[in-house]
Formats: sequence, C-alpha cells, structure tokens
Amino acid sequence: MAGLTLSHLYKRYDNSGKKKKIKNDFAVKDLNLECAQGEFLALLGPSGCGKTTTLRMIAGLEDITDGDIYIGGTRVNDLDPKDRHIGLAFEDYAMYPPLTVYGNIAFNLRAKKVPKDEIDRRVREIAPLMQVEDLLDKMPVKLSGGQKQRVNIARAIIRRPELLLMDEPLSHLDGKARQAMRVEIKRLINEIKCTTVYVTHDQLEAMSLADRIAIINFGVLQQVGTPAEVYDDPANEFVASFIGEPPMNIMETTIVSQDGHFFFTFENSDLKIQVPERYYGVVSDGFRCKMGVRPMDLLIGGPDSKGTPEKIATFENLGDERRIGIRVGSTLMMLITEDEKRYKSGDVIRLEVRGEKTHLFDLETGDRIREK
Ligand code: ATP
Repeated sequence: MAGLTLSHLYKRYDNSGKKKKIKNDFAVKDLNLECAQGEFLALLGPSGCGKTTTLRMIAGLEDITDGDIYIGGTRVNDLDPKDRHIGLAFEDYAMYPPLTVYGNIAFNLRAKKVPKDEIDRRVREIAPLMQVEDLLDKMPVKLSGGQKQRVNIARAIIRRPELLLMDEPLSHLDGKARQAMRVEIKRLINEIKCTTVYVTHDQLEAMSLADRIAIINFGVLQQVGTPAEVYDDPANEFVASFIGEPPMNIMETTIVSQDGHFFFTFENSDLKIQVPERYYGVVSDGFRCKMGVRPMDLLIGGPDSKGTPEKIATFENLGDERRIGIRVGSTLMMLITEDEKRYKSGDVIRLEVRGEKTHLFDLETGDRIREK
C-alpha cells in the first residue's frame, strides 16, 4: 500500500494536426493532489474535465506534459506501467473471451510466471471477496454486467497493487445493480484497505464511497475535501452546483440594507432573505453577487408563519419526498419537503428560508465570498 502525490501535473494533447483548432487544449492544468496511504480518493467532474487523462498518467498509459507523479514516495514518471505496482479496473471490462473467469483473474499472475499453486491460492482467496466463487468456470459471454465488473475488479486486486485505479467501474450498470455494486466496493475497500483513486462523474457515487473528493472542471482542480466539506463549504459556484441533488439554488441578488439589517433581494420578486450577520463586514447596500441555498434549507411555514407568500410553479411527488418549484424572477427555485400534503401549481405557501445556510458567490468569478 502506498500514498500518491501529483505535483504540478499538466497534460496537453497535440492537436496541431487537427483541422478544427481546439481552444482549451490543456486536458489537465497544474494539478496538485495528495492521496494518503490507504485513502479512497474520488476524482469527480463533468465529462471531458480531465479525470481519465489524470488516471492514465498515474497508470503510465499516457505521457506527462509537465509535472511529477510519486507513488509511495518514488517518482514514477519514467517507470513502465508494469513497474508501478498498480491495479487497474477501467470502464470497459476487456476480458479475454476464450478464457474462463478463473483464467481471466489469473491472467496477469500467469504472465508474471507466478507458480501455479500460488496463483490458485490467490484466485481462491479473492473470489469470495468479490463473490465470484461460483463463476470461476464460466466463460465471460455468460456473465451479467455486474458479474463482469466483479471479475474486472478481482483481476485488478489479485496483483496486490500498492495503488488501485478505478475509472467509472459502475458506468455500464443500471440503477439497482449500480447501487448494489457501490455497496460491494465499499465493503471490499474496507477489507483490503488499498490506496484507491476512483474516477466518476456521479457525485452520489463519490459522496458515498470516498474519504475525500477532488472536484475538477476544465482540467483545473476546484476543491478537494471530505464529502461533508465539499457539500457544506463549497469553494465556488461550480462545486456548489455540482454536489447535491437537486443542486443548490443559485441566484443573482442585490443586497439592500433595512433597519440595521442586510437582505438578499431578487429582480421581479418580493422574496427577501436575511443575510447571515457573519457577512455584514463584506456586504453593503446595493452590493451585487450570487446567493446559493440548498433545496432542503427552504421550508414551508405553518399558519402563523411570517414567511413570504409564494405561488407554487411546479410540484413533484417522489414518494418519500416532494419537490416544489417556486419562480423567483427568471429562476425556478427548488424546495424539498417531507410534508405529506399534495400541492398543485398555483397554491400559495409561506416560504421560509434558513438564512444562516446561504452562501455568497462572486458575480464574475463564481468564487465563494467568505466572511471576514
Ligand atoms: P469522460 O468522463 O467523458 O471520460 P474525462 O473527465 O475523463 O471525461 P478526459 O477523457 O480525460 O476527460 O478528457 C479531457 C480532455 O482531453 C477532453 O477535452 C478530451 O477531448 C481531451 N482528450 C482526451 N484524450 C485525447 C486525445 N487522445 N487527443 C486529444 N484530446 C484528447
């Protein structure tokens, strides 16, 4: 088991031969990241943000434009993939069709000329861990997506890697199988305690599996932190809107001062939300920024509520929760409630907002505006 360090890592693809010029040709830009020994780090971001490129550079499958990669303190820039002591479980299963599941799991050890009885011992040790004992004699074509994925991961961990690299290992699975496999991966990682870097575009997967999450956009690291940190204390508007489902409501606002207090106000809306007092040192009357608030921090007031009367624009009943959309100017602000009542559009509710849970973002850069 080893830690991982990425230091000022860059990747630029050579697109000079391409007819159409690509503007943003850095797939990865000045990436600095640490993954501690035994830690599970998720690389999270939208499609094309550079996650796979980063993983492939760590694996040695992609040249590095600039920067350094250390595995367990050793600089591996010039090491062959096979000498990096890594296990790879990538999105496509790429199994050897003529070999049984046993043969597929054993393949890399056979290639390394590990003695036969040692291979057998290790296959039989890993098989129950990945719950594939009953599949060992089967051919890959006979396996379901979830079974193939288990074999895929078994192949990666049988080599006892110092570092396990997984790239969207659940992407071929549908809803239920995906959820079940997520639980299995969590159990497995707890058992083998291997340093793991896990690429995903699914924030739920990252939140449920990872010790820490590195969020990337356009090749640039936006924030790295525990799931709670990136959820409760997002570094910028991108992270705030990427983490959480439904996403944080983020709206342009003008702050007004009234009776010694500051309030967020919104164009073409009567809604007024008190600015948390901790921000009083950074805002002023007429200050323009964006305000963010999570859907679960909007509440429906009772009969005596002093909340703002707001008309419901949309109502969705999702069984254990209900989602209500309220139009604030040109934005549809989402509210989540466990309230059993079935509303319909046009109904009026008293909207209360947990003002202390609001976040402020810079209008231009999207960076968090923090209290002084
Ligand atoms: P996805 O989840 O869709 O796989 P990703 O976050 O893993 O996305 P990458 O595959 O790392 O993103 O791609 C990052 C950027 O680099 C993208 O803009 C992509 O078009 C570009 N890119 C990737 N591979 C190459 C290549 N071989 N040649 C040129 N550009 C590439």
